[in-house]
Amino acid sequence: MNLVRLIYASRFCEGKFDTKELSRINHSSQKNNKISELTGILVFGDDFFLQCLEGDREEVSKTYHRISQDPRHESVVILSMEDAIRREFSEWDMKCVILTEANNNLIREFSTTSKFHPHKMHHKNSLELMKALRK
Ligand code: FAD
Repeated sequence: MNLVRLIYASRFCEGKFDTKELSRINHSSQKNNKISELTGILVFGDDFFLQCLEGDREEVSKTYHRISQDPRHESVVILSMEDAIRREFSEWDMKCVILTEANNNLIREFSTTSKFHPHKMHHKNSLELMKALRK
């Protein structure tokens, strides 16, 4: 397997965010990622998504292309896609995290902005933020 890690940012675009929407996304992710042997994390906050997908290069590409066409989000921007030595999120088909005020210090630690705005984050900092959130 050519193990790669892809990180992208996007913005939710279907009116007011509803946690049921995240449950639906989570449900599809768990189902499909298990079959494709993908692992990762999906972070949601302030109407933005930050997601990391890890796995075989071809499976990551296929899944990313499907996700990028999803009308539930827009401004889908790849922050990085790199070969990886090991998985950082090996325990999860897709761990979903909704940011709360309790995460504000972490966001400030890894961002140059006070609010969560993943498009403006350096990809290395975005990965460090996701690693800090996997606990
Ligand atoms: P199913 O999983 O069978 O889809 C059916 C379910 O998803 C239903 O509950 C349906 O209501 C809902 N659904 C699907 N598409 C839409 C839509 N356009 N609008 C409203 N509801 C919809 N998919 C993955 O496989 N892996 C991921 O890691 C992943 N991450 C995602 C992250 C984000 C931010 C978003 C927005 C989507 C993500 N998805 C992911 C979902 C992906 O975009 C596709 O919707 C999904 O992969 C389709 O899977 P499926 O064909 O098996 O459909």
